[in-house]
Amino acid sequence: MAASEFDLIRDYFTGLGSRREDVLLGVGDDAALLQPPEGQAVALCVDTMVAGVHFPGDAPAASVGHKALAVNLSDLAAMGAEPAWATLSLTLPDADERWIASFTHGFGDLARYHNVALVGGDLSRGPLSVSVQAAGFVPRGRALRRRRARPGDAVFVSGTLGDAALGLALWQEQRATLDADSAWLIARLHQPTPRVSLGRELRGCATAAIDLSDGLAQDLGHILQGSGVGAVVDVDRLPVSEPARHYAVARRCLEAAAAGGDDYELCFTVPRTRLHRLDAIASRTGVRLTRIGTIEPGQGLRLVHGDGTPAGLQVPGYRHFTS
Ligand SMILES: [Mg+2]
Repeated sequence: MAASEFDLIRDYFTGLGSRREDVLLGVGDDAALLQPPEGQAVALCVDTMVAGVHFPGDAPAASVGHKALAVNLSDLAAMGAEPAWATLSLTLPDADERWIASFTHGFGDLARYHNVALVGGDLSRGPLSVSVQAAGFVPRGRALRRRRARPGDAVFVSGTLGDAALGLALWQEQRATLDADSAWLIARLHQPTPRVSLGRELRGCATAAIDLSDGLAQDLGHILQGSGVGAVVDVDRLPVSEPARHYAVARRCLEAAAAGGDDYELCFTVPRTRLHRLDAIASRTGVRLTRIGTIEPGQGLRLVHGDGTPAGLQVPGYRHFTS
């Protein structure tokens, strides 16, 4: 790839995403030059997606481009940050220009939608893997953290849960003909929607927030640990989509909603005194918000049914390096 690396960067990556005035120098030099706004903290995150580990190796290239950026924008959303810049490190088995064109299409569409400029990157040859680093701004002292949930706070999630886990099962079945419900679930897996505007709206409202990459049980667990509290979640309230209900039996839907990864919805906690704000936030952002439980003293997550009996779900969250 060495001979054509510079051509590929010129043809496909220079100027990808939005044009922004705070980019003093973008793709093409040894480093980008960027001008963060006064009074704002820079939120910075990075995420690597490896084919066969984080996404199916046969996923459409446009979806890989979309998702590689989306998972980072989701992290920024969980901090209440406004996305601005991204860098991309792409490792490819070969310089397949059709694949690259499609990848940059998926990446570029999402970047422009969220006013993100690609400001630098790197191309190399090897097993397919994509690293994206994203930066955004959040007014100093206003970022959403994981550590301020308090007993009595309500626990909310956005959107619907478990779709991506069911979408992955469908993708692995390799069905030749897909009905509309299956296609929707697979799109939830391949093209997650980062809840950027919701994250921004939750500043000054939520006491803690996280995005759901590894599944509700595990990710809410990070809030509980960070805040030194426990929580009770009513599994009968977990928002499950209609396509999920059509595809899987109720129990499988519940397990996917409680522990399935890759949904990239937000989970957050809100004190009683601010609950009245949520209807307006839901309508301004157009995102469904569901109260699923309550923070309580102690530690750990209790999954129960509406009548208080234990849910008895097998909900291991996804972990690397453990069996
Ligand atoms: Mg995250």
